[in-house]
Amino acid sequence: MSKQTEPLAVPALDLKAQYQSIRDEIDAVVREVIESQYFILGPEVSNFETEAADYCRAKHAIGCASGSDALLLPLMALGIGNGDEVITSPYSFFATAGAIWRTGAKPVFVDIEPDSYNIDPAKIEAAITPRTKSIIPVHLYGQTAEMDPINEIAAKHGLSVIEDAAQAIGSAYHGRRAGTLGNAAAFSFYPSKNLGGFGDAGMVTSDDPALSKSVARLRVHGMEPKYHHHEVGFNSRLDALQAAVLRVKLRHLDAWTEGRRTVASKYTTLFKEEGLEDFITLPEEREGNYHVFNQFVIRVPAVVRDDLRNYLAQNKIGSEIYYPIPLHLQLCFASLGHEPGDFPLAEAAANETIALPMYPELTDAMLSHVSETMAQFFASKQILPLDRKRNVA
Ligand SMILES: *Cc1c(COP(=O)(O)O)cnc(C)c1O
Repeated sequence: MSKQTEPLAVPALDLKAQYQSIRDEIDAVVREVIESQYFILGPEVSNFETEAADYCRAKHAIGCASGSDALLLPLMALGIGNGDEVITSPYSFFATAGAIWRTGAKPVFVDIEPDSYNIDPAKIEAAITPRTKSIIPVHLYGQTAEMDPINEIAAKHGLSVIEDAAQAIGSAYHGRRAGTLGNAAAFSFYPSKNLGGFGDAGMVTSDDPALSKSVARLRVHGMEPKYHHHEVGFNSRLDALQAAVLRVKLRHLDAWTEGRRTVASKYTTLFKEEGLEDFITLPEEREGNYHVFNQFVIRVPAVVRDDLRNYLAQNKIGSEIYYPIPLHLQLCFASLGHEPGDFPLAEAAANETIALPMYPELTDAMLSHVSETMAQFFASKQILPLDRKRNVA
């Protein structure tokens, strides 16, 4: 670093900037909920459910306590449990496989496509057994999985499909929004998601009235009416405070999503101008897809990935690895008997990807600082572009 002045800080995420822009709206609704002293479910939650269902163009939305629960609830409603198998991606946040495991079913992994990082539909059929009940495709980083072939396979084998749309609210696949592309979908409103609450929150969407009713009942201990329990659910109620915050934020979501897409295209232009395309693989939006860029994830040679992270950090640029250990190699799933090499594309992605700062409030100066720092790093490294080709396999 030859710079005299302190480099411009570009944190990986800056939620304060978003709050500043909507502070008055948020503070007003939070005060209203506090005045009402109505904190659990109730009118704020049902209004949010109506608005969020409309937003996703789904028939039903059921608010719940987290994105993790939003995966568990439809699995339970579909009766999935001991002895069943559920197919999913090994390259996701832990909750995807964790939810399957918690029902008593076995997660069965299918490797990803190297460019979209989503489950590869061409490899799903080979993993289907007589025990298979469901498929959970993950719309990773904000771009939907290839849902048409996945739904075709599911229909052919009588399987249900649950979208893990935790990172993908507002994304679309051939004109249809995430949340309407399977039997049910799970959304997370964890603060760093595109629609983030002030704490944990989640939502299930579905067009199936019976499934939706069952999910709504399971989130209140299987209770309907009060103190009559049809099945054993658990407490996954959504708080009114979260719903009130999310209702305000939902009105801004499309503008923020456009902001994220603008940041993504500026990154792409800047990196190309710096000649970085030989060293890094940029994220791509598939034809027919609308990518909402929860994350902007690039791929670099595994040998330099951690050095690049350190170099960015020295220059006050935040970054993250989503995710460093694929799910099939997690300690808690050792009994599944997987080994390194079982899902080579997921393993390569875990070693080669790096998420750069991504939020609509990033300024041009911040984006330039990121691309210049990246260019300095690769100029100092003398990496052969071939390295990447070999590593990507
Ligand atoms: C965030 C996330 C979840 C879990 O959501 P929580 O609200 O944190 O429980 C599940 N799947 C994916 C892909 C996620 O990114």
